[in-house]
Amino acid sequence: MKQPSTPSYYRATATPYVPYAPLQGQHETRIAIVGGGYAGLNTALGLAERGVRDVVLLEREQVGFGASGRNGGFVFGGYSLGEQALLDQLGEQRARALFNLTTAAVERIRERVKKYAIDCDMVDQGVIWANWFRDPGVLRKRQQLLADHFDTHWDWLPQQELRERVRSERYYDGLYERNALHLHPLNYAIGLAAAAAGQGVRIHEDSDVWRMRREGTRWRLSTSQGELLADQVVLACGGYLAGLQKKIDRAILPIATYVMATEPLGDRLDECLQSRAAVYDSRFAFDYYRPLPDTRLLWGGRISVRNRSPHAVQRLLGHDLLRVFPQLKGVKIDYAWSGLMSYARHQMPQVGSNGDGLWWAQAFGGHGVAPTCAAGELLAAAIAKGDEGWKQFSNYGLDSTHRPLGFLGAQASYWWHQSNDWFKTRLEG
Ligand SMILES: Cc1cc2nc3c(=O)[nH]c(=O)nc-3n(C[C@H](O)[C@H](O)[C@H](O)COP(=O)(O)OP(=O)(O)OC[C@H]3O[C@@H](n4cnc5c(N)ncnc54)[C@H](O)[C@@H]3O)c2cc1C
Repeated sequence: MKQPSTPSYYRATATPYVPYAPLQGQHETRIAIVGGGYAGLNTALGLAERGVRDVVLLEREQVGFGASGRNGGFVFGGYSLGEQALLDQLGEQRARALFNLTTAAVERIRERVKKYAIDCDMVDQGVIWANWFRDPGVLRKRQQLLADHFDTHWDWLPQQELRERVRSERYYDGLYERNALHLHPLNYAIGLAAAAAGQGVRIHEDSDVWRMRREGTRWRLSTSQGELLADQVVLACGGYLAGLQKKIDRAILPIATYVMATEPLGDRLDECLQSRAAVYDSRFAFDYYRPLPDTRLLWGGRISVRNRSPHAVQRLLGHDLLRVFPQLKGVKIDYAWSGLMSYARHQMPQVGSNGDGLWWAQAFGGHGVAPTCAAGELLAAAIAKGDEGWKQFSNYGLDSTHRPLGFLGAQASYWWHQSNDWFKTRLEG
């Protein structure tokens, strides 16, 4: 396989736009948002849609520079924390309410893509959860749990039917989640930014906030070329750590994960996929992939506490790809990249406030496209109207992740689960 080029496939196919100018000079605003990923952009757009126009969003690099412009593009309900754990921790009513926020977010994403004509290759064809193991127990249990407690219905895919859609001998049966879609994540972020800017939000790229201080009842944010005085501040910096408030930064473990895109496959794509749904499998350390409009296969997987070079990503994921689709032997990988997710110890998003005009939305883990949209809505409703819906996340606070020790724990836990999957696979022969 030839060495992949940089940057990511998404950056190479990004919707062109005139860059937003850096913040320069002294400014004042009602609301400042730090971070131009989905969490920040959805909050900005939610505020604009509620008629709050005095909003400034500051992004260190470009909108969608972080996880939001690098991810797998799967849009589905739920959180990084599984549904059973959510139920155990919160009880039926609260767990269901939190889960429903994300399924409503999937619908909101559909609507916004249409309403703002966001050109992001949205494929509204659902997601397949393919069973890596012979034992159907885990799938049956989850299907039942979702139906009984979350009023969510995933269809059973017997092995034969799954293999008609996904041409791999690796899988047994599967589940099909209809209310799910996939899209070009960076172009979705660029579209959200354009929608917010079109309604008066002032966006500044290349504006790294390096200091944030309380000044009377307001907050003063400093960038290299400017200063902003704000009544309220939203920190939405994910795994790219703002470095502004210790307590908020320490609550996050940035974890790397990897993605690549093959060369255009032409008819060979049909030799792998007869469906246009996105696919992931039932292991803890699962593969995920989806077809792209130009017949490439986008492939992701693995997590680690360290970033890897595009070449190393290609080597790792290339091996995973051929295990599932040996028919793609010799295929060229055109792009490979990595991104940082933000994890909390409790594996749930942290959406909260200190009551002093400081808000945060972070820790969306590897399952953030819909939850960031939900969080943006909650924060926008809170700031614009005093709504208290964000308090539904109050169980999930800013517990310290104890970096750097926390990294060791996370890596060890990942290896532990990965080896369990490996043994289970070997046992099943
Ligand atoms: C490779 C990968 C694959 C994934 N796949 C999926 C998937 O298929 N489906 C799914 O639901 N989720 C997926 N996720 C998770 C999802 O992408 C994230 O949960 C989501 O994008 C988080 O958004 P965010 O706004 O919190 O953070 P980010 O998108 O990381 O944005 C944070 C932004 O803050 C900026 N910033 C940081 N500090 C400062 C500062 N001091 N001043 C100014 N700006 C600052 C950064 O530059 C960055 O742009 C994946 C993540 C990765 C990395």
